[in-house]
Amino acid sequence: MEREDNRIFLHACCGPCAEWPLLVLPKEGFDVTLFYYNPNIHPRFEWQRRLANLRKLGTLRGVEVVSEEAYEEQKWRNEEWIGKYESRCHMCYDIRMQKVAEEAKANGFSAFSTTLLVSIYQNHEEVAEAAERAADRVGVSFVYRDFRDGYRKGQDMAKEDGLYRQKYCGCILSLEESKFRDRIYAGFPDVSIDPGSAG
Ligand code: SF4
Repeated sequence: MEREDNRIFLHACCGPCAEWPLLVLPKEGFDVTLFYYNPNIHPRFEWQRRLANLRKLGTLRGVEVVSEEAYEEQKWRNEEWIGKYESRCHMCYDIRMQKVAEEAKANGFSAFSTTLLVSIYQNHEEVAEAAERAADRVGVSFVYRDFRDGYRKGQDMAKEDGLYRQKYCGCILSLEESKFRDRIYAGFPDVSIDPGSAG
């Protein structure tokens, strides 16, 4: 299917979650550009590792990856910041969707979407609502898709592609809460082990 204005700015939280949307959206006629903007991720090593794996996927699929050098995980441990929102995840979706909408518009895209919509672990409705709000504020279209039916398939594809698959959502709080916490910390280089460090 050909679209008149088929470019879409696809926010990507990581490589594995991008697998399925990268299969679906081109079949619908979209020309996808991936956008890595995840200032929530802790520590910096992990932020870089997820970006590196997204770039790897982009190379495998011939899809451009652009990224925003933003690392603001301090906000995710700042109660004053979080208190401005209904919850930390609400804040997380709102900050990211606002930026994605703004960058889509600034770069001449008429539409954006997000790979967060593939995860069965995210609050799907809140992600979509945050994206809709950002789209309205900025004046750009949000393309909603419920990608969750492809979550497992996407994870299998990531495994076949040799992508790193993380065991926690991304922020320091999700890392601390993870049942794999100790194993995750053991996988970081020494410099990033201190959960109180900025990475
Ligand atoms: S748990 Fe995930 S969505 Fe929620 S604030 Fe942390 S990184 Fe963001």
